[in-house]
Amino acid sequence: MKVCKFGGTSMADAGQVNKVCEIMLADPARRVLVVSAPGKRSGAESKVTDLLIACADAALEGRDGSKSQEQVVARYAAIQQDLGIEAALIDRIRSELARRLTAHRADRGRFKDAVKAAGEDFAALLVAAAFRARGVAAVYVNPAEAGMLLEGEAGNAVLCPESYERLSFSLGAMLEHPDRPIIVFPGFFGATREGAVATFPRGGSDITGAILAAALKADCYENFTDVDTVYAVDPRIVPDVRHGIQEMTYREMRELSYAGFGVFHDEAVVPAVRAGIPINIRNTNHPDLPGTRVVPRREAATCSVVGIASDTGFVALYVDKYMMNREVGFGRRLLQILEDEGVSFEHMPSGIDNVSVVMRDARFDADRETRVVARIQAELKPDAILVERGHALIMVVGEGMQYAVGMAARATRALADAGVNIEMINQGASEISMMFDVRSPDRDRAVRALYEAFFA
Ligand code: ASP
Repeated sequence: MKVCKFGGTSMADAGQVNKVCEIMLADPARRVLVVSAPGKRSGAESKVTDLLIACADAALEGRDGSKSQEQVVARYAAIQQDLGIEAALIDRIRSELARRLTAHRADRGRFKDAVKAAGEDFAALLVAAAFRARGVAAVYVNPAEAGMLLEGEAGNAVLCPESYERLSFSLGAMLEHPDRPIIVFPGFFGATREGAVATFPRGGSDITGAILAAALKADCYENFTDVDTVYAVDPRIVPDVRHGIQEMTYREMRELSYAGFGVFHDEAVVPAVRAGIPINIRNTNHPDLPGTRVVPRREAATCSVVGIASDTGFVALYVDKYMMNREVGFGRRLLQILEDEGVSFEHMPSGIDNVSVVMRDARFDADRETRVVARIQAELKPDAILVERGHALIMVVGEGMQYAVGMAARATRALADAGVNIEMINQGASEISMMFDVRSPDRDRAVRALYEAFFA
């Protein structure tokens, strides 16, 4: 049995939804379908999720959001009309959206989650109706009723572990139904123990798909998107990239998607890894192509570097104190200050008398910076402290790297030749990746140089 997830571009219009149906029907093992909200039809258009966020913000700020609201309904109506699905569904979508937008707003985060989640929810209703219009048995499943229990902050929820058992029980029974219905499950959200709608981080339908694949012990998790393969480097940075990745390991995928590999959500690897389920990333527009397989293990010898990923938006907090290495508990106290502010850190390269803490910029705003710096000064009495924004991280990833000699030399040579100054290097921590920290304006140049060095 396969669980298939289709992303926003696969849901963008009736033509795409038809492709989704054809793909599902082409293989009887494809029984569970996870959908995203409709994405962009053209570059200038907004994704439905972004329109919904605009609606929710307008409601929270007391502004008129009716234009975005109508745009959302119009996206579903266009699909409904072209597929010849009953129009009553659009009336239902319109009134359900209005209901969510006038619901209780005491908890602003949960209010917004409920509005955002409507995008996937309506898409699933529509796709289930599209199958039925073709005479194919299909059921829409409500994640809350099926047992997708979530917890944690709004817009950034995590799964409660008991969900696996609940989902396996409820969906397992549906799979055994003699009509063999296709289960259509909206991605991106679930419900809290209190019954409120909660969403995963953006792009979270990938996570839903991986959770269902794990709960149902699927033979494969097929993730359909709009690229033929995962490329070794971001085509927006290296437009003529030719190297598609046929196969990579879970660890490689996690490292690459962490640092900006847009095709797959980094948190979605985890449930699949725990259950040992292979992931296959494929293209809805070219379903005959094999795509990229993500597997537990692979023969690394063939290619030591599998991909290069990068992301901007990092900030480095640099703390210097003479004899830091002799001061027991310095690191713990430093991290305690960050913990008290609710800031998680990404990397922490250190020297004898200094330590740098690299964080996501979005998690360390100006107010937090002021409070953190004041506390470090008062409690840790450093010789110097510096906060520097505008950092980018580049990850060169490959299982085979741990056995290959001279990989770091090749990378640093390439960066030096491109005139890129390396701010930090982190190699020891992960045996399958090298991390380079550079200034954001140097990022693209650095990635191109590394791509040339390892793939040209
Ligand atoms: N629709 C949501 C987003 O745009 C979730 C997803 O597509 O996976 O982030």
